[in-house]
Amino acid sequence: MASGSYRNGGPKPTSKLDRLPPSTAYSTPKPSAKPRPSAAPVPRRGGSVAPAAASAGKAGGDAGVPGRVRVAVRLRPRNAEETIADADFADCVELQPELKRLKLRKNNWESETYEFDEVLTEFASQKRVYEVVAKPVVESVLEGYNGTVMAYGQTGTGKTYTLGRLGEEDTAARGIMVRAMEDILADTSPETDSVSVSYLQLYMESIQDLLVPANDNIAIIEDPKTGDVSLPGATSVDIRDQKSFMELLRLGEVHRFAANTKLNTESSRSHAILIVHVKRSLKGRHDADHGFPSENGTNSTLVKSFRPPIVRKSKLVVVDLAGSERIDKSGSEGHTLEEAKSINLSLSALGKCINALAENSPHVPVRDSKLTRLLRDSFGGSARTSLVVTIGPSPRHRGETASTIMFGQRAMKVENMVKLKEEFDYKSLCRRLDIELDKLMAENERQRKDFEDEIERIRTEADSRVAEVEKGYNNTLENERLKYQQDNMDSIKKVEEKWMANVNRARVEHQSACLEKAPTTSSSADIVEVRQLLENEKILRQSTEEVVMNLKCEISHWKRLEAAGNSEIVKLRKMLDSEANQKHKLEEEIAILRSQLLQLSFQADETSRSLDRGESGKALTGFDSLVPQARHPQLRDSANGPKASIAKLFEQVGLQKILSLLESEDHDVRVHAVKVVANLAAEEANQDKIVEAGGLTSLLMLLRNSEDETIRRVAAGAIANLAMNETNQELIMAQGGIVLLSMTAADAEDPQTLRMVAGAIANLCGNDKLQMKLSVEGGIKALLGMVRCGHPDVLAQVARGIANFAKCESRASTQGNKVGVSLLIEDGALPWIVKNANHDASPIRRHIELALCHLAQHEVNAKDMISEGALWELVRISRDCSREDIRMLAHRTLISSATLRTELRRLHIEF
Ligand code: ADP
Ligand code: MG
Repeated sequence: MASGSYRNGGPKPTSKLDRLPPSTAYSTPKPSAKPRPSAAPVPRRGGSVAPAAASAGKAGGDAGVPGRVRVAVRLRPRNAEETIADADFADCVELQPELKRLKLRKNNWESETYEFDEVLTEFASQKRVYEVVAKPVVESVLEGYNGTVMAYGQTGTGKTYTLGRLGEEDTAARGIMVRAMEDILADTSPETDSVSVSYLQLYMESIQDLLVPANDNIAIIEDPKTGDVSLPGATSVDIRDQKSFMELLRLGEVHRFAANTKLNTESSRSHAILIVHVKRSLKGRHDADHGFPSENGTNSTLVKSFRPPIVRKSKLVVVDLAGSERIDKSGSEGHTLEEAKSINLSLSALGKCINALAENSPHVPVRDSKLTRLLRDSFGGSARTSLVVTIGPSPRHRGETASTIMFGQRAMKVENMVKLKEEFDYKSLCRRLDIELDKLMAENERQRKDFEDEIERIRTEADSRVAEVEKGYNNTLENERLKYQQDNMDSIKKVEEKWMANVNRARVEHQSACLEKAPTTSSSADIVEVRQLLENEKILRQSTEEVVMNLKCEISHWKRLEAAGNSEIVKLRKMLDSEANQKHKLEEEIAILRSQLLQLSFQADETSRSLDRGESGKALTGFDSLVPQARHPQLRDSANGPKASIAKLFEQVGLQKILSLLESEDHDVRVHAVKVVANLAAEEANQDKIVEAGGLTSLLMLLRNSEDETIRRVAAGAIANLAMNETNQELIMAQGGIVLLSMTAADAEDPQTLRMVAGAIANLCGNDKLQMKLSVEGGIKALLGMVRCGHPDVLAQVARGIANFAKCESRASTQGNKVGVSLLIEDGALPWIVKNANHDASPIRRHIELALCHLAQHEVNAKDMISEGALWELVRISRDCSREDIRMLAHRTLISSATLRTELRRLHIEF
């Protein structure tokens, strides 16, 4: 609320009829419903905007016109309760609508009369109420002025009925909010205008968002320059049709009810505030109405076209105030004294401001409450304001009714300075300028291209003209030359003729003289000679000239060729250099690799030898160094050297490179490589990597392809090491490993080779899943074939393989996975087993003893065991074996086999 000092005063209505001015018609100054640019209700200052206003973004230089707050009074009909309770009493008011007067009864014979801008009886329709109270304000909002419609009155007198009824069941009952939006939407177009809505509740000095209830305690922001207030924290919803607006109102109602329940109050204690923002662009108006000054003061066409469009921004504020009845300060409604004060604060502050404005007081306490801050523009500001005071008929509420009437009367004295809210729309100007700029840039681009094309054209033309002129010039030159040559020839000819004439004359003279003395003959001969020389000279010169020309041509041709050749040579030389470089590097790398390989294989051999020396009595090489370190913890230290180097090599060179050397052309390299791989394979940690990198396949390939027994021996050793894990065992079998191992065994002469192969097969024999395949593919036969060499190490591996196989087979039979006679027996292993069951070398003996026990555990084998003499061996084991566990096992096996027991009994062998 602005202070009264800037209002233009003028006649003001007073509370009593006798002091009312004669012509305060409700509708003045009333703007028309449709925009009337030239006959706007509010005169604008001049036809153009003052530069200061323009630079501040304000288009409207409107100083405002006085516009008093309009006040209508509306009487609610008696309700059912009043009809009964007040049946014997007259209403406390008597309305004279045609005179716009209201009489408030003091008692039966006395009353006071008040005049309002409009007096609406209990029969006034909602439509009429809208038309007289709100419509002028709405129209003015559509014109660009701010507007306020507010209802004030005691609870239950019809404020919400007047403002907020949705009229869903009965359209005639639609209230001001609904009707106002209908008019606004009808008058605006979504292309050029925008309408948005906020809906709020003010309770106990806190503003809540009725559209998004979580939005609580919204701040009021005041523009320090213009004094305009805004609520940036409030939700603002764009409205495009009535339906969405109705939904918003409904939503607001629901939230208001919920909020009040939460706050434990009634809606009559809170103020509901609907704010409708209307933004309209004035198309085609700005050029005529508002000059946009250019720098030199002239309105050039260009400047005109960049004039920002004008927008009118206005807002309609509809306020459904809290009930005006006094709240008992004792807090009888369940409120504390503080709450009661706070609830009343905004309403009483409004009353105070209106009093101050009505009395033209220099100080208006606008800042005392949120409501008065929000309505600063509505009372004493620049808005067009319409107030409807609602009263009830009951004489019992005469006091409240009287105070409502007085409020209305005071409000009627408040003078506003209604101002147009026009602004230049710099944003849309900016957009327009952007588009313009784009266009200009495109045009510029096009022109530049045209220009370049033109230049190109002129240049080509000039070139062709120059060429033409040059040609002409050359022709002329040639002609000139020919002419001169001709002239020259002619003159020479003439000189010759002259000379000839002279000569002839001289000859005559000479002849005549000769008669006196003879010497002239020699001079004429001289001349002929000279002439001849001259002729020769000429010919020579010509041919020399030709030769020179040819040579020149050739020289330039060769020069060109040379230049081309030179660049080619440079290129080739570079390539050669880089090739040489590359080769050099590779050679170095190979040398390093070779030296590393040699060193490593040397170290590997060394280690093997040292290991062999370490193991008592063993004169073997290779295999032991291939057994993983973990199995020889006592050798760990001595083996650390080469292992570390191998690990280093592994890191430096990369497994892939080492494996690729297995296929090297160079035999030595192959040998060293396989040794390195074998050493790597001895490390359990490397085994998976080797297999993943294809090392196993390469090793098997070596077995297949290599003629060299050393390579095959080392490869077999590596395979033996890899064959220690189940996955690898299956891989070896899948890749035909057993056949290759068998072939190697058949061809080998070196016991070490046989030991490696036997070791590998022995490992495979320990895999439960491979039993049948091993037997079918000749694995057991290959094992048995290797015993031919008689070397105890080979025999030990064979025995280990047989024991492994027997154990797995026994397990499978027990589990019911195997039926029938042992594959060992079928493959003819039993005689060798029996023969070596009591071998001197304990590793051989132990394995065979175990194998026998496993075989004897299954009745199917009993017959063969008896016939091959294995029973005797078992009896011997059960009696003499130095290892108690094996002795016990043999014993248990014998007593558990019915067939063997029967046989023993038959032979009368005590057991
Ligand atoms: P307020 O908002 O002032 O507390 P309401 O608008 O809620 O009052 O009105 C109270 C009751 O009176 C409601 O039931 C309403 O329907 C009824 N009422 C109010 N004004 C009128 C009217 N002009 N005609 C008929 N009923 C009315
Ligand atoms: Mg209400």
